[in-house]
Amino acid sequence: MLNPYVTRINIMLQLFFPPGAGCSVCGSSTLRLVVEYGMIGPDMPNLPDLKGLLPEEIAAALAPLGAPAFRAKQLFAWLHRRGVTRVDEMTDLPADLRQTLSTHFHLTAHSMLERATAADGTTRYLFGLADGQTIESVYIPEATRATLCVSSQVGCPFGCTFCATGQSGFTRNLTAAEIVDQVYRVQAELPEGRRITNVVYMGMGEPLANYDAVIRSVRLLIHPLGLDLAQRRITLSTVGIVPGIERLAQEGLQVNLAISLHAPTQADRVKLVPIARKYDLDSLMAATRRYVQTTGRKVTFEYTVVPGSNDREADAEALAALVRRLQSLVNVIPLNPAEGQPAGMRLHPQELRARAEQFAEMLRRRRVEVAVRASRGGEVTGACGQLRQRHRPKKLFSTSLSGLV
Ligand code: SF4
Repeated sequence: MLNPYVTRINIMLQLFFPPGAGCSVCGSSTLRLVVEYGMIGPDMPNLPDLKGLLPEEIAAALAPLGAPAFRAKQLFAWLHRRGVTRVDEMTDLPADLRQTLSTHFHLTAHSMLERATAADGTTRYLFGLADGQTIESVYIPEATRATLCVSSQVGCPFGCTFCATGQSGFTRNLTAAEIVDQVYRVQAELPEGRRITNVVYMGMGEPLANYDAVIRSVRLLIHPLGLDLAQRRITLSTVGIVPGIERLAQEGLQVNLAISLHAPTQADRVKLVPIARKYDLDSLMAATRRYVQTTGRKVTFEYTVVPGSNDREADAEALAALVRRLQSLVNVIPLNPAEGQPAGMRLHPQELRARAEQFAEMLRRRRVEVAVRASRGGEVTGACGQLRQRHRPKKLFSTSLSGLV
């Protein structure tokens, strides 16, 4: 069956120039244009997206339509507390207002393309977006809480060497509505009485590179008329986007900040995290210190142990020196045996975990507050981006513009 998102298929063109009238750029007598075929979705709707608006913004948008301001609160609660996906589900709104809303606004609502659940309940979701792109979210249930790891971008521009998402390239930022709808679609699947209690922005993409949409999505999630999530149950993760950390310090939010460090020296960090060339370790640590001073909040340093690369005694010593005087926790993460990683990184998951535990012990001996991220989800806890990579449409042709003489 044809995928519903395949709406355009482009055609290969081959142009033959008459003698003496070749390409003015390269002089070739034949120009072949081969265009990529792929999953290309319908254009994003042009209408304003109601799901991305705060109650006061909804009120302002409704005013020209003659709807009273109190309708904005009702509407916001339908979208963000009850998680409805269609205007006609808002049964306490007058029928004529529902009709007006459906012609003047768009409502983001992801389609669930696939889910994979492990024995412990950890579930990885693949969502389809309105333009045919796909993103992943991971639900992690525990005894007293339920965490959703959300994506903030389609792909990621930063290309960290150990990350499946980073290897797949960057397509676009998500809107605030597209971020929060991951929460609402998963919430809608949970059994009666089970609620998502924590949201971590550690899925596909770099949250602070999509700053405005991410902060807006946080404000939507914490709004008392909506999900009313406690700020301290939200964690923003960053690979070290210094201007974003500086802005976040001034935002007046009480969310958690997790910094993906992964190496304790500038020389080693740039090998794993290429954006460290732009935002080097000194400026990252200086921004982090200012963040802690301004907010009074502890930061978490995420440290993925890449065996043989960043788990030596010297690495532990350098890392301890960096973080010891900061109000911080080092979260040591066993490397994920992701597809597409260099062969040298391929170790059995148990060996990867043992190496992470060993490194954590080196840090504890140096009086660093440290935790080792628990293994969850068995077969579905591959790095974010793996499910999506397996579902990427097969390219029939590659994109190329080549002159043939
Ligand atoms: S680790 Fe984060 S910032 Fe780096 S490529 Fe992956 S998603 Fe992007």
